[in-house]
Amino acid sequence: MSEKTQVIVVGGGASGLMAAIQAAENGAAVTVLEQNETPGRKICVTGNGRCNLTNRDMRAEIFRGRQPEFAAGILQQFSLQDTLTFFEKLGVALTDRKGWLYPRSNQAKCIPELLLLKARSLKVKIKTRESVESVFYENGCWKVQTSGWTYEGNKVILANGSSASQVPGSDGSGYEIASQLGHRIIKPLPALTGLRCKGNAFSAWAGVRTDAEVTLLLDETETVKESGEVQLTDYGISGIPIFQLSRYAIRALDGGKKVTLSVNFLPEYTKDTLQEYMKKRQELCPYQSEAELLLGLLPDKLIKMFRKQKGDLCQTITAYSLVVKGSSGFEQAQVCSGGVDTSQVSPETLESKLHKGLYFAGELLDIDGPCGGYNLQWAWSSGAVAGCHSAKEKL
Ligand SMILES: Cc1cc2nc3c(=O)[nH]c(=O)nc-3n(C[C@H](O)[C@H](O)[C@H](O)COP(=O)(O)OP(=O)(O)OC[C@H]3O[C@@H](n4cnc5c(N)ncnc54)[C@H](O)[C@@H]3O)c2cc1C
Repeated sequence: MSEKTQVIVVGGGASGLMAAIQAAENGAAVTVLEQNETPGRKICVTGNGRCNLTNRDMRAEIFRGRQPEFAAGILQQFSLQDTLTFFEKLGVALTDRKGWLYPRSNQAKCIPELLLLKARSLKVKIKTRESVESVFYENGCWKVQTSGWTYEGNKVILANGSSASQVPGSDGSGYEIASQLGHRIIKPLPALTGLRCKGNAFSAWAGVRTDAEVTLLLDETETVKESGEVQLTDYGISGIPIFQLSRYAIRALDGGKKVTLSVNFLPEYTKDTLQEYMKKRQELCPYQSEAELLLGLLPDKLIKMFRKQKGDLCQTITAYSLVVKGSSGFEQAQVCSGGVDTSQVSPETLESKLHKGLYFAGELLDIDGPCGGYNLQWAWSSGAVAGCHSAKEKL
């Protein structure tokens, strides 16, 4: 082996490419092993193809996981400002949409392209169609086994990502490799996804998009509230507010809790103020039925559905109850909650506490964020920290 620290990065996604660049900039000889034909495929589908790569509101407490505080030190070492400077140096101009940041080109694919150009300029070897099957330490070095080759290095960074999405490569093999190395895995579950609800009448509202406020109740106790445009589907409910609370709903369901949503379809009203409003409208338009009074207020598919409900109409509209029975699956999820247990990983360097020279980055770790660029920020920050320390730390 040469004098340089040899770093092998498993996975050429957001965190893996960042790790490779930082390790190479810190003097390591780096090889990235990526099972897809092209690295960074998931980055290309982010932000509806536009890549919401970070967010101006970057507080560590926004991140979730069994030990959410784990994210803080990593985000401090490679902060939002470091990320902006990094991408600016690559040539990425940014567009700000209410604090959510995108490349000015509005094309997500420019991000992996620019990362790869940078990595190649630093002589990082990018080996594609290399699916890593196992990682082990033998005879004083790390060995990374693919179907056709065994790569050797002083350090290994696992940046395999999660099981979320239909993007090829999201096969969860990182959990298996980490687990074979003795790492505990917090059960990965879909997050940032739609929720399947009990009932068989959802085809009636499928296709409706409307502003709403959604409250998540776990065993009848109110927890998180989110508002924004919900999308009503034939299986239940989706849209950004649902994505934001989905990780809590899905983990609670998995833990055996009763999970319900209370949806206020007219969040500008409470039940009482809506009743007053309806009374006034009835006085103005005595020729209209109760349901007709809602025309102009709500989409007609919703009115038809609410008409069929028994009980107080204003209560139904402002606190529509949905019993959650599941998620729309890993394939439809943007990220996973769960992953490699952070209590077995150094919060300063992202090195394994079980094995020297083994590092973790990205979504493979038990840290996830809400919509808004937080998951990519976690990939950039954790990738940078793992890359940097893997190149610097002595074995
Ligand atoms: C539809 C969608 C939209 C999204 N939009 C956003 C957004 O706008 N903003 C945001 O912040 N986040 C977004 N995310 C989440 C974000 O893309 C991920 O959190 C982020 O890509 C995770 O980075 P990562 O490096 O951990 O994993 P990935 O980017 O998934 O990279 C992992 C890589 O490892 C490779 N790999 C896995 N196993 C092996 C193996 N055994 N051998 C070799 N290679 C392997 C995979 O092929 C993959 O290329 C979105 C996700 C999806 C699915």
